[in-house]
Amino acid sequence: MILRYRDLAARVYDDKIRFPTFLPNSQRSEGTDGILVNVYRIWTDKDYRRIVRKNVHEYTEHDGFILPESGWQQIEKYEDDVTNEEIVETQENMGFNVIAPLAASKVKDAIINARIAREETQKPLFLEIPQHWTEEEIKQFVGETKEWAWGYGTKGDNTDKILFIAQAIPRSAKLHVFGIHHPAVIPILAAAGVDSFSSGAFSRYAEQWLYITDSSIVPITRMDELPCSCPSCANRTPKELDYDTLRQHNLNQFVVEIKRTRNAIKEGRLYEYAKRRALTHPRLWSAFKKIVRSDWVLENQPFPKQSSIYDFGDVEERPEYRIGLEKARKMGVKPEDLAYAYPFGQTYPEQIKERPEPERFVRAVLKYFWGLELEGVEWKERHGIPRDLFWKGERIGQIRYEDGAFIPTIKGAELIAKRTEAPKNRIVLNEKGVKRLKEDKTPLTTNAVDWDPELRPYQEVILVDEEDRVVGTGKSMVTAREMKELVCPVVKLRHRVK
Ligand SMILES: [Zn+2]
Repeated sequence: MILRYRDLAARVYDDKIRFPTFLPNSQRSEGTDGILVNVYRIWTDKDYRRIVRKNVHEYTEHDGFILPESGWQQIEKYEDDVTNEEIVETQENMGFNVIAPLAASKVKDAIINARIAREETQKPLFLEIPQHWTEEEIKQFVGETKEWAWGYGTKGDNTDKILFIAQAIPRSAKLHVFGIHHPAVIPILAAAGVDSFSSGAFSRYAEQWLYITDSSIVPITRMDELPCSCPSCANRTPKELDYDTLRQHNLNQFVVEIKRTRNAIKEGRLYEYAKRRALTHPRLWSAFKKIVRSDWVLENQPFPKQSSIYDFGDVEERPEYRIGLEKARKMGVKPEDLAYAYPFGQTYPEQIKERPEPERFVRAVLKYFWGLELEGVEWKERHGIPRDLFWKGERIGQIRYEDGAFIPTIKGAELIAKRTEAPKNRIVLNEKGVKRLKEDKTPLTTNAVDWDPELRPYQEVILVDEEDRVVGTGKSMVTAREMKELVCPVVKLRHRVK
């Protein structure tokens, strides 16, 4: 897994395909990165014997990622006698890379089915969590199956439950939400850490002559013009849409939404984007508020970010701002002294009008970001703000223009290591990790033996060996919890000791 960008509890990362992703619920080829395939539907196809001899990519004419769903609810509803073994075997025969055992409404049956699947295949499992399970049952299920899991899937109607599942599963497992009704849901649930979404609604709506707009779903007969410029809608009137073009437009709305969501995460504006989309419906609005105020988002929120914070009267409930205030309080620094530093200096309009004396600012920044107290620091200013910092004649780093964070040189990092208590500010590497660094390769989370217990994404850290000698510096991409649960590069590397 390679983490690219983060915002709130959302992560953009590459793991064969780019996540978060949208997987249409469809056997037909779609031009998306992946699709969701219902295995029960294959099993009940009158051509089953012919289909099951085909590879799933050939069968679906899709060469991207294919996620199976067992179809357990239909099986229960129609009281069909298809077994877990048959569902798993079908997927094995067709060469699925991720296997979905038959889910079940009782947790103990679901665990047995997962265990049986595991005996038949070494491939990672996609495990479905029914909505009626209690938190205890979810914990029990995850506890028994997490070693085998590619990921877990659930429905998207209950925000509390999604937040609970996001925290209950390992950070290496994907969280999938089935059956979303409108694209506007995507950025809001992505903010809670949902990695993939599926829906068959785009076809269903097309069958009923319904057209997905930005904020709603409208009978096509009531439309005067098409407010969209996708290939289906450009140069057409509502009367000129047929089933295929309408379906393609509806699908495209979901595809565009996932791209906009990833882009908002990259820009550090997922809060603003999700909020805008949440205004589509009061239910989404209440889900949005619950998610952005949750402890889960607070734990995962990258800090500092280089994007500015637009204040629409809600700055104090934003996770970045809450983290900043708490950090300042803990370090005994006044927000007024941090007028150029994140998040206080990045809000628009400005929260703090008065500018501190340069000396007070420098002192506050070192304490706030690193817990470092240092007498006799000197600086050079750029645009009237201290930039390059020196101590005893040596350059120890610079205060970054965008967010006022202090980025130490190796000299500065050594000073921090000497004057702050391990493992604060640090990631401690084993011998193998130090060796990787010497070879100009970025160490992995598996090379870390200890780290700052409050580590969060985008935090600047120093890399030390087990003797607390500085070996490098960088920007963390993970939380303290993820250090244990993910295998990925430990930082975006800045400097290393040659
Ligand atoms: Zn369109």
